[in-house]
Amino acid sequence: MTIAGKNKYMQTRLESIWILGDQLFPHHLLLDPAQKSQRVVVMIEAIDRMQERRAHKHKVILVVSAMRHFAESLQQQGWRVDYREADNFQAGLRDHLAEYQPQKLWMMESAEWELRQLQHQHASKLKLSVEIIKNSNFLVEQLAPEEKIEKKVILENFYRAMRKHFGVLLEKNDVPSGGAWNFDHENRKPYHAKIKPLPPISFAPDATTQAVIAKVDAACPDNISATTNFHLAVTRAQALKVLEDFIENRLPNFGAYEDAMAQDEPILFHSVLSPLLNIGLLEPLEIVQRAEAAYRAGSAPINSVEGFIRQIIGWREYVYWRYHKMMPGFHTLNHWNSSRKLPDFFWTAKTSMNCLQQIIGRVLASGYSHHIERLMVLCNFALLAGINPKEVNDWFLSVYFDAYDWVVTPNVIGLGLCADGGIVGTKPYIASAAYINKMSNYCQSCAYNPKVRTGDDACPFNYLYWNFLLRFETQLRANPRMGPNVLGLKHLDAEERQRVQTQAEEFLQSLL
Ligand code: SF4
Repeated sequence: MTIAGKNKYMQTRLESIWILGDQLFPHHLLLDPAQKSQRVVVMIEAIDRMQERRAHKHKVILVVSAMRHFAESLQQQGWRVDYREADNFQAGLRDHLAEYQPQKLWMMESAEWELRQLQHQHASKLKLSVEIIKNSNFLVEQLAPEEKIEKKVILENFYRAMRKHFGVLLEKNDVPSGGAWNFDHENRKPYHAKIKPLPPISFAPDATTQAVIAKVDAACPDNISATTNFHLAVTRAQALKVLEDFIENRLPNFGAYEDAMAQDEPILFHSVLSPLLNIGLLEPLEIVQRAEAAYRAGSAPINSVEGFIRQIIGWREYVYWRYHKMMPGFHTLNHWNSSRKLPDFFWTAKTSMNCLQQIIGRVLASGYSHHIERLMVLCNFALLAGINPKEVNDWFLSVYFDAYDWVVTPNVIGLGLCADGGIVGTKPYIASAAYINKMSNYCQSCAYNPKVRTGDDACPFNYLYWNFLLRFETQLRANPRMGPNVLGLKHLDAEERQRVQTQAEEFLQSLL
């Protein structure tokens, strides 16, 4: 589909700007209005990318519909746009270059390591001038952390350096707003039935999105889930409404209930901005500044605003920076030598463990669960059960609508499974059923008992947790942050240790 043809522009050789599906920025650095008459935008809707890893259909619809809307909006602004549907990027780019014969090709670096390599390979092979600029969807590209931070770079000093560099939540003389850099200790309230969050704003598919849904149904029959119930924002205007809806209705309680989990409230007070931020419909600094404005206006408390801003300007930027330092090779890290195949129930949700059944079922249907469910239920289980990290990572990349390699791999192989040996995070995030029972209401409807360690109805999280401590006691003891966990082993006599290990082994053998 070519939105604007080339014919009347052939007198002069143009420069082409290749815009990727996750670079749909409202202020794209390559879209300088002064250059409009000399440049053509090329966008490629590649079938092989849509089918890749059987990605969740809601993610595919989101990206493709947002690309088409973005192309239409550029055209309305007077840009010439060559929008191509192709088998793959190579074919789309080859055909564009053959038709337009530009004198120069501009690109912005992909956030994904592999695609970035492909861009640079193209650049060296093409017989025209190619220029690749830094990705502007990440503020860390402007920081150079290793130059700014004197000590070893860890999340906390990285986050403070970002706050200072961009002047976020600071008072006079760089004093942090509210008197502290981090209010995490206030952000651990468990779920309780009186919590009644408003559901986030949603959008009925317009004609453009419906056409994309029809294409995804036809072209991606093996991808995850159905195309029904797609309701995500696909334009800049809709994305701004999602941001305002979060700021007004959920940000005030975001902090307090950030770690809570609930069977019938998948979103609670979370923002669900990540799919929009990851494709560029929202920009990181505008989100951060909007949240800070809510604090300054007195409409959201500091623990919520600081906790949210830390997710955006701290964690998101930190994992992106770490990912590019650790690639290639990140995908094959396996610190605990975990080799178990991913159980089938990750693809079906058919398990008697209620927390896993509910969360996996929801993710398969909608492409979403919030970050504590990803970390403290799904990754926790995978780590305790010794599931191969790459298989877990590939599953996360397939089933979430906000999944990209730069964010999934550090969060799953790094933080969630600690398969990097403690580079992204500083300890393995393992927990028994006590944590899930405290923070959620899943255990109330479960066949298992979260309060017993062994026995017929004991929750598998319990014996798997203690089995993990027993297996890796020496290693864990050496980690100062794991001390309290390992100390708990002194309450297990030899017989209980044997029961734990036997029941864990039987359970693991039963996983298919
Ligand atoms: Fe999950 Fe165990 Fe609670 Fe069941 S008892 S919901 S398996 S933590």
